[in-house]
Amino acid sequence: MDRGAHQNNHRRGRARPRGRISPITRRILAVNVFALAVLVSGLLYVGQYREGLIRTEIAALTTQADLIAAALGEAAVSDEDSENQALVEDVARQIIRRLAATSRTRAQLIDTRGRVIGDSRFLVGPGGTVRIDELPPPSDGEGLGGLVLGAYERASRWFRGASGRGPGPGDAGTGSRLPETRLALAGEHGSGVQIGPDGEMIISVAAPVQRYKRVLGALLLFRDSREIDEAVFQVRLDILKVFGVALLITVLLSVYLAGTIARPLRRLSLAADRVRHGLSRQYRLPDLSGRDDEIGDLGWALREMTEALWKRMDAIEGFAADVAHEIKNPLTSLRSAVETASRVSDPEQQRKLMAIIQDDVSRLDRLITDISDASRLDAELSRAEMATVDIAGLVATLKDAYDATAAERKIGLVLDAGDGLPCLVSGLEDRLVQVFRNLIGNALSFSPEGGRITLRIRRRDGDVRVLVEDHGPGIPEGAEEQIFERFYQERPVTEKFGTHSGLGLSISKQIVEAHGGSIRAENHEDFSTGCTGARFVVELPLGPIDTPNP
Ligand code: ADP
Repeated sequence: MDRGAHQNNHRRGRARPRGRISPITRRILAVNVFALAVLVSGLLYVGQYREGLIRTEIAALTTQADLIAAALGEAAVSDEDSENQALVEDVARQIIRRLAATSRTRAQLIDTRGRVIGDSRFLVGPGGTVRIDELPPPSDGEGLGGLVLGAYERASRWFRGASGRGPGPGDAGTGSRLPETRLALAGEHGSGVQIGPDGEMIISVAAPVQRYKRVLGALLLFRDSREIDEAVFQVRLDILKVFGVALLITVLLSVYLAGTIARPLRRLSLAADRVRHGLSRQYRLPDLSGRDDEIGDLGWALREMTEALWKRMDAIEGFAADVAHEIKNPLTSLRSAVETASRVSDPEQQRKLMAIIQDDVSRLDRLITDISDASRLDAELSRAEMATVDIAGLVATLKDAYDATAAERKIGLVLDAGDGLPCLVSGLEDRLVQVFRNLIGNALSFSPEGGRITLRIRRRDGDVRVLVEDHGPGIPEGAEEQIFERFYQERPVTEKFGTHSGLGLSISKQIVEAHGGSIRAENHEDFSTGCTGARFVVELPLGPIDTPNP
């Protein structure tokens, strides 16, 4: 795709124009109609039904042939001695004509030498005329159903390779060559099915004409399969009618089914497209939560995803605004200090201004370090490989590291490791160290001289809890949640300006939550000493936790 086209596509999105049949609809329709078509062509075959009809027809013809043969044997035999008895051809022809005239059956009489001596189709009618009874052409059916069935019949005949001409009784003398004739001349019964010159089926039955067990000839009866074909045609027509109704229902149901899939999906993709183009939030994805299926789930997931993305964007925007705001304060102070410094000549005043400038610069430095740390945090937490970390060991090591600082400030640092067993969690050691450094650092900076900081480690069904308690002023009333917000600071005025950025707890919270844990702050009262202070509680799940890349 060239660039222009790509850009165009990118701008327009992939939302499909309305009104066109969706590919899903087409696919569902095709599958359902195909299944129905296979079923119906199988039913239309009706092979067994047809064979049953042919068997019945052969049985009926055989009975008829036996009756006529018996009549011939009685009435059309010359009255000579049993050795020279023969069929009296004229009488035989009359009998055949009269008996066969009443039905659509064609009869042929063949003598013992295989000569056709009578054929009901070429018999002399009353008045001496030769009557040729043409078999009526096979019916081609009626209406649309007939057309469809005719096509089906031709196709299936072609498929079976049965379109060739077979020997038909249309040619005089054919009957004598049929195997059933030979059977009849041997005193047996025979039957067969031929394909006629027009591709129609012709049933033939042969019976011996006997007088006292002596075979005098063979009587052949032919009947075309018109009745059978008509019966089969009717069955097929009925099947076609049912098929028509079933097809209509299938199409309607398929379109409905496809609609319930394609329509909400199209709505979703259109809405997603609008969300992508519109930078405002007025576009919301359609609410499909009422649907108790996968599409409902998809709609819900997409809505949640958009909400999460908006939240994320809010956070980024908020962060940028907070950062700008926080940087503005030291910058303003810096600018006025620099401006004043250029005007004053008193060295003492200049020294003071220099100190302010230094403070501002170090505060900016601190801020920028923390901000860059915080902004890298997300990416690092989602990408870094988790390792097994022993929280008990980690806290003990930190306690040792802070012992000297605490002693310097005459603060007691106490470790209460509970059962003393290792507490293994899956996580990023450096980042977890950062959390506890921040908590212990805060506790040290808020503790009065002679105070005590207690680090408690406790296991509790599947969790490890670390408590950091101090004897400082405690958390300001009602600010237990707020202190975890970015840039929240409430520091003793005595503290050196610019050493804190107000990001420590918010970063700690982010780290702990990325480990599947939680952090909270409260005030406590130590009943043994009557001291009060702040308590920070960190809870982390023990054992491996779910990570994006296990
Ligand atoms: P910073 O340490 O840079 O001030 P933090 O996010 O670590 O930022 O802390 C935010 C605020 O939470 C602090 O300014 C303080 O008001 C409050 N705070 C944190 N730890 C304690 C504590 N141990 N005792 C009392 N207040 C605390």
